[in-house]
Amino acid sequence: MKNQLCPCQSQSIYDECCGFLHQGKQVATNAEQLMRSRYSAFVMHNTSYLQTTIHPSQRQPDDLLNLQQTMETTQWLGLIILEHTETGDQAEVDFIAFYVDKPIGQLHERSRFSRQQGQWFYLDGEFLPPIKLGRNENCVCGSGKKLKRCHG
Ligand SMILES: [Zn+2]
Ligand SMILES: [Zn+2]
Repeated sequence: MKNQLCPCQSQSIYDECCGFLHQGKQVATNAEQLMRSRYSAFVMHNTSYLQTTIHPSQRQPDDLLNLQQTMETTQWLGLIILEHTETGDQAEVDFIAFYVDKPIGQLHERSRFSRQQGQWFYLDGEFLPPIKLGRNENCVCGSGKKLKRCHG
């Protein structure tokens, strides 16, 4: 991933974005950053990062299996953060992660996060309906092409 753009579509280099968090050089300073780094971990099939960023109270014995299944069956295309609200040690992030499907797939979720001893963790999420995408808008994958000429 040297000098490659980060999968979270921040337009930063991976090593200077989610890479810092994946390598344990930094902890996320807010829930949105954690959300982005979890998305990148999905793209890069980093199951251990995804497991360790689930809140300890929410970890399940089948987490690893579920993560592996999602990674095998889903090809992620891009991420947009719609809203990020933080109140003390609780936060919510409303986001859409796009994936390859016909028409294009959307995981639209409002995730909840909690901070414990200075570290943010993913708690759980609520699924929301997909948003309407214009076929003449730029594709969510960041190619610069119109959706209808790319992954639409
Ligand atoms: Zn990133
Ligand atoms: Zn595309």
